[in-house]
Formats: sequence, structure tokens, C-alpha cells
Amino acid sequence: MTMQHDNSERLRVRAEKLFPGGVNSPVRAFRAVGGQPPFVARAEGAYLFDADGNRFIDYFGSWGPMILGHAFPAVVEAVARAARNSASYGASTAAEGDLAERVQAVYPGMERMRFVSSGTEATMSAIRLARAATGRKRIVKFEGCYHGHADGLLVKAGSGVATLGIPGSAGVPEEIAGLTLALPYNDLPAVESAFARFPGEIAGVILEPVVGNAGCIPPGEGYLAGLRRVTAERGALLIVDEVMTGFRLAPGGALELYGIDADLVTLGKILGGGLPCGAFGGKRGYMEMLAPLGPVYQAGTLSGNPLAMAAGCATLDELAARRETIYPQLEATARAVAEGVAEAAQAAGISVTLNRVGSMWTWFFTNGPVTNYEQAAASNTARFGQFHRAMLERGVWLPPSQFEAMFLSVAHGQAEVGATISAARAAFGEMLG
Ligand SMILES: *Cc1c(COP(=O)(O)O)cnc(C)c1O
Repeated sequence: MTMQHDNSERLRVRAEKLFPGGVNSPVRAFRAVGGQPPFVARAEGAYLFDADGNRFIDYFGSWGPMILGHAFPAVVEAVARAARNSASYGASTAAEGDLAERVQAVYPGMERMRFVSSGTEATMSAIRLARAATGRKRIVKFEGCYHGHADGLLVKAGSGVATLGIPGSAGVPEEIAGLTLALPYNDLPAVESAFARFPGEIAGVILEPVVGNAGCIPPGEGYLAGLRRVTAERGALLIVDEVMTGFRLAPGGALELYGIDADLVTLGKILGGGLPCGAFGGKRGYMEMLAPLGPVYQAGTLSGNPLAMAAGCATLDELAARRETIYPQLEATARAVAEGVAEAAQAAGISVTLNRVGSMWTWFFTNGPVTNYEQAAASNTARFGQFHRAMLERGVWLPPSQFEAMFLSVAHGQAEVGATISAARAAFGEMLG
């Protein structure tokens, strides 16, 4: 069972001389779980292969984008075809309209949209637009929700910020952080109080409609509809950040699954099929405040990049063509593996609370329930770290933090489910022993 790590070890030593902490994004480090991250050489379907030839079942899918599995042939082909025509022009192409129409087909509320190169840019731009549209400065977000690393959004943010146990980020002036109100998730009265306390000052409310970045936390009954009502009553914009949930929970993301609408929606991850891509969009009246039509400036040298557009179109085409089978399959497979592992924990006498919506879920090492960040933070992260290491040794690569969601792909099947549950049984046994 012992794996070879020599090549990854060599690459890590080099990386630590080049990148802070050896990584280009902190969530890739294994500080919260211990051990060293393998360096990936390639991936196919549900599997990652590292630089030493070890194979892992992948449960983070590039943190969400790889819903079709790795190196999906139609995506690879589309990117190769686009690349032969040059990687970028800095001028408009048909591909941008092609992807936008595919987005609009499932997000009809995105009357106008704009492509950017990351989720961070999408949320940052949406907030600028909400402030311009309302002439107000304050923003409401929720504890444990992560919306990228723009200054005003790194307040009680989830994901890597939560993993590293820091309240926000150094380098964000308090004048900027002070404009962000971070409220507990799933607590509508807290939102109503904030509006009462700052009448006419709140430009928008931004949220993850299903939290993924504090681990998976679903919205309570009526919560999303309540936010829609309160924001509309108070003249603030509802910004639904679907960077993680878009195209994953349903073709039209959480908006479709829960039947709500938003003033602005942000997309990323699956939208680019694994290439750097994001988008924000919504009501035409708001979006037409953007330059060159209006006074809100927003731009990007690589926005609407042809390779990203090609990968996005190929991905959304596959999801649309097989929507009747893909989403039920993701649901059934995710249920089997998520519940199978939770049952194995229970059988071993280890407390685990399973939160799952479709193909995203988290096993929280706590008695639960987990309905907000505070409850998630009460999890036994040392236990999670043990579990993570024990699974990795058995060829199952989970996201390296208690405060992240697992993501399944269409390429995960019965074989991977069975292997994962067996690995979990052995891992729990080892943890007790
Ligand atoms: C990943 C994520 C972002 C940030 O996207 P990047 O492409 O990493 O900048 C924003 N919001 C949510 C909900 C995310 O999951």
C-alpha cells in the first residue's frame, strides 16, 4: 500500500523555492490536513495521476469545474481546434455569443452578461455594479461564504480563509472591510435587522445559494425566497454567486433548483470547462450601466478568451444534450458514495454529519446539525485531517480541508463508489486503532 512519492517530493522542494508555501493558490497546500500534496501529472475521467505514477479517485474536480470528468474528449477537441486559430485576439469573436446564448438558455434572467477570467472578477464587478446602481456603499455577505479574493469580500470568508483560521486578510483597509456586513447564513432576521440598522445604505446582498466554501451547507426552507423578498423591499440588489453551483445543481444552477430569481448572477468554474472563465450578468437595466454604455468601468485583456469559450461551449453542450440522464446520474452516484461513507463512519462509531445537495457534499466530523459557519467550525478538524491522510494513502483524494465540498463528475461510477467506501471503512478502522 505504500506509495512512491520521490518525484512529488522533488517538485515540492523546487516549488517552495519559487512560490509562497510552494503553491499558486493556498487551498492546494495540505497545511490543514497534514502530509504533502502530490504533484499532478495528468488526469482522465474520475482519476488523477501524480508525478510518481500513483492513481487517485478525484473528489475535488479542480474545485468544481470538471463536471464531465477530466480530459473529456469533446472539450479537448474543442480547445485544440480553437488553439489552432490562435489563443487570443483581443477583439470580438462568434464564440463569445455562442457561449452567452448557451448560458442564457438556462439562465434566462441574464438578459445581458459579461465574460471575465475568474470568479473573483465576476463577483468584484457585480458588487461595483450594485453600488453604482443603488448609489449605496454597504454590502451584506454571509459568514463562511467565499466570493473570491477581492478586498471587500475577504471578510469572514470561507474556503482557504476558514481553513487557515484567519478572520479576513491583512492588507484590506478597515475602511473597505467596514463596508461589508458579514451575517450568519440561514438567518433571515439577521438580514432584516441589518437593513433596519442601515436604512438606505445597503447596495446588495451576495451569497452562495448553497454554501460550498464552508463545507456544504444547504439553504433552509424559504431562506432564499426570504432574501429575495427583503432585498426587493429595501431596494438592494440580490447577487446570487453561482460560481460553484451554476450548471452543477441543475442546468440553471440553484436559481433553477430553488425557483428564485436574482438581480445579478455570477458564474465561473464549470462555465469555462476547466479553462479560466467567469461571467456576471442580470437585468438589462443594471448591466447597461457598464462601459462603454455607462459609467461603471470593467474590462479584461483576456475576457471571452477563445479557448475558454470553446471549452465552455463544449461543456455546456454536453450538459444540455444529456441533461435528462446526467443530473439524475450525478444525484444517484453522489448519494451512494456520500451516504455509504457516512454509514461506514457510523458503523465505526465516528460522528459524521452529511450535508449534500446533488453532486456536492461534505462529511462534517461533528454531531451536527450544520446550518451555518459557526456549526461547521465546531467540527473536529484534526479528525478530518486523519481521514484525509488515510484516504489519500488508499488512492482517494479529497479536498484538503473540512471547510470544502466534494465534487463528483459524470465519470464517477459504481467502481469508484465501491472503492471509496472500502477505503473509508479501512480509514475509519485505522483512525480508531
Ligand atoms: C471559486 C469561487 C469563487 C472564486 O472564483 P475564482 O475563479 O477562484 O476566482 C467565487 N465564488 C464562489 C462561490 C466560488 O466557489
